[in-house]
Amino acid sequence: MANTITFVSLGPGEPELITLKGLRTLKEADIIYCPSTTLKNTKVSSRALDILLALDIDQAKVQLFDVPMSKDRTLALASYAAVSKLIHQAYLEGKNVAVTAEGDAGFYSSSHYIIDNLKRDGVVVDKIPGVPAFISAGALAHIHIAMQEEELHVVPGVITTSDLVDKIEKHRAVVIMKASQSAEDIKQAIHKAPQSTFHYFENVGLDTEYYTTDTEEIINRKFPYFSLLIIKS
Ligand code: SAH
Repeated sequence: MANTITFVSLGPGEPELITLKGLRTLKEADIIYCPSTTLKNTKVSSRALDILLALDIDQAKVQLFDVPMSKDRTLALASYAAVSKLIHQAYLEGKNVAVTAEGDAGFYSSSHYIIDNLKRDGVVVDKIPGVPAFISAGALAHIHIAMQEEELHVVPGVITTSDLVDKIEKHRAVVIMKASQSAEDIKQAIHKAPQSTFHYFENVGLDTEYYTTDTEEIINRKFPYFSLLIIKS
């Protein structure tokens, strides 16, 4: 059988939330590309690698690629371009390549940069779905995210208070991804939509997991990168 490049969704943090298909693909891969970030103290951190190690994947076949977190996305794009070339090369060498993505690989996942680069080079890739963070958050909080005729609206981070209040009034369920990008606007909206419940989550599935619906606590919280909200009306 011909070799493949497969994007494997890892789930949002809890290692057991990977699919059986994803796990099998990781085990069968010759090489696994996995994103990491270099923290301010120069320590390299990779939540994806932590998941792989918890799943007993052989670290010797893992290749970390550093994705700079700076606001200027030029550096990150250069990193995706470089790793796309390495992935393409490994594929041409006949290797079965896996590339990890946190949560689901098709839901606000930066893995699309790599997929687009490979597509441009005429390489077709496979994707294995996974549990997105907001679905995991809903289960943690025992929320039925959408029921019956309810519509779900997903906000990708950047939003103003008035836009958010407008969406809360229109939809019974609103999910805010990348909440740290608009923390102050979200906090303002809490006062303007007192009839809604704001479910706030950090680091779902990790040791540092945090969940509250207490509006004072949410307002006093510094939203980290891995935070999201589910707002139910
Ligand atoms: N592909 C991912 C989303 C990546 S976008 C998915 O399917 O969920 C990155 C955003 O996802 C973060 O800013 C945060 O809002 C959310 N996120 C991802 N993992 C999370 C986690 N474990 N806990 C809380 N939020 C998380």
